[in-house]
Amino acid sequence: MVGAITMTDVPITPEVMAVPRIVSDGDTNLVGKSRAELGEMLVAAGLPEKQVRMRVGQIWQWIYQKGVRDFEQMTNLSKIYRDELAEHFTVSIPEVVSKQVSTDGTRKYLVRIEGGHEVEVVYIPETDRGTLCISSQVGCTLNCSFCHTGTQTLVRNLTAAEIVGQIMLARDDLGEWPEPGRTPNLEGRLLSNVVLMGMGEPLYNFDAVRDALKIVMDGEGISLSRRRITLSTSGVVPAIAKTADEIGCLLAVSFHATTDEVRDKLVPINKKWNIETLLDTLREYPRLSNSERITFEYVMLKGVNDSDEDARRLVKLIKGIPAKINLIPFNEWPGSPYERSDVKRIKAFSEIVFNAGYASPIRKPRGEDIMAACGQLKSATEKVRRSRVKAEDKG
Ligand code: SAH
Ligand code: SF4
Repeated sequence: MVGAITMTDVPITPEVMAVPRIVSDGDTNLVGKSRAELGEMLVAAGLPEKQVRMRVGQIWQWIYQKGVRDFEQMTNLSKIYRDELAEHFTVSIPEVVSKQVSTDGTRKYLVRIEGGHEVEVVYIPETDRGTLCISSQVGCTLNCSFCHTGTQTLVRNLTAAEIVGQIMLARDDLGEWPEPGRTPNLEGRLLSNVVLMGMGEPLYNFDAVRDALKIVMDGEGISLSRRRITLSTSGVVPAIAKTADEIGCLLAVSFHATTDEVRDKLVPINKKWNIETLLDTLREYPRLSNSERITFEYVMLKGVNDSDEDARRLVKLIKGIPAKINLIPFNEWPGSPYERSDVKRIKAFSEIVFNAGYASPIRKPRGEDIMAACGQLKSATEKVRRSRVKAEDKG
């Protein structure tokens, strides 16, 4: 069936580290600031050094544990200090433009960030957990040929405030902040897990992603254990060890192919860091991050990467790495150059991997009716905007 599919040889984007964060000197938002940054902001606004530690902790608790955005409600701070804070600072998160709810309960939020750009955030309820899929960039500089986000050029990196803000707006919508005066309930949370699997390559926006996740994992922040956070990367090798060292969350890798020839086409960053280089780095990750296993994501594309031979090669390649293989049936999007593998094929592939001793769940597509599935994000919205721009050009 390969003949029916044209795999375009997409060039790899050369250097993308240069995309600046948009934290300007005039940035007064307290959301997304590290403890050190927040402390510096408070001192610059007149707070005595010796009070910094305590005040940062108090403010974090109001913002991230109680969902308070109005300084007036931060009642363990003196009235004078609350007024001072309000004079200098804001507590702001991205704005939800619209929300769609799928028949399976999945919620997709269209979110507007500064500059009028939009990103999508997806909440997936399951029986034992609720997972929020968040974005790290508007668009993506990489061009994975099966990914819809990859067809859109990068607009910009999200700030740490915009990344942690996605979690806060979902908690707003889920009604998951404690009543005033109550302590936050850490048991049975509706939003219990976070995956960086939305738009963008998180490791090409490292600093903002790290700062945001540190707030998510902090006991005075969002308070989710690092084992409930999974960062997915296409394979930015130099940043993987740094992730273990500076973040320490769980790692997922968009593997998707078992030969360099095929992976070069599917995940073109492979031309820079090939399968062998990537696997060498991954072998170190569990030890460095003290986590149990790595998730290998593998999109099932008919006739491209889904043969029994591929499955056997895969288990050989990852030998020695504690791993789980997530098989993702390809989600089609308008104009996509691939087809989803048949259910029978996916099951046969899964069985080979399973029999080699690895968990190999087939991911159930969620929220398909609202285009919220993996790799489908941003589609309709972006198209509308493009046609709007065209219309404006003409006008
Ligand atoms: N940029 C990061 C994280 C976002 S993508 C990365 O590439 O890992 C999250 C997962 O969805 C990745 O494994 C990605 O390869 C996969 N994906 C992208 N487009 C898809 C599609 N159309 N169908 C199924 N999975 C897709
Ligand atoms: Fe970017 Fe990930 Fe899509 Fe590749 S799969 S284009 S890295 S968002």
